[in-house]
Amino acid sequence: MTAPAVEDLLDALARAGLKRTVPRRAILEVLATIGRGASLDEIHARMRAKTSTAPDASMVGFSTVYRTMRTLVRLGLAREIRLADGVARYEIGKDEPLRAHFHCRACGLVEELPAARLAAFLPSARRAAKGRVERVRVEASGLCARCLADLPPERRRK
Ligand SMILES: [Zn+2]
Repeated sequence: MTAPAVEDLLDALARAGLKRTVPRRAILEVLATIGRGASLDEIHARMRAKTSTAPDASMVGFSTVYRTMRTLVRLGLAREIRLADGVARYEIGKDEPLRAHFHCRACGLVEELPAARLAAFLPSARRAAKGRVERVRVEASGLCARCLADLPPERRRK
């Protein structure tokens, strides 16, 4: 699934009665550029780095980033990823019942993994829960390719 364009997301915000502001546009552009789960700190740091292209965006405070992300999640335009490290990360797109992520414990990289196979887990989860299973989250963690390459050769075993 491709992520909606920034203009489409601004249109969706407008339909919800939220103006097209410089901070909202800048936050969405940052999210679209990162293209994977990013923490509020990372989004905010990228906003500050946008100074040269959009001077107003560099003035956006952390609380504006936080509030904007809460709004985007509430409207189903962005989703929150919470992994075992407790850091909330955000990405463009609506939440889905089956999701899997890989988390690098060294650099914090988070990447989405194909979740198609998780559907096969649902029947046994329903039986065990004896009820309705609404969400399945799988977290794989370890070292990403870059961090693995930084290790001495004798410690690079996968
Ligand atoms: Zn890494």
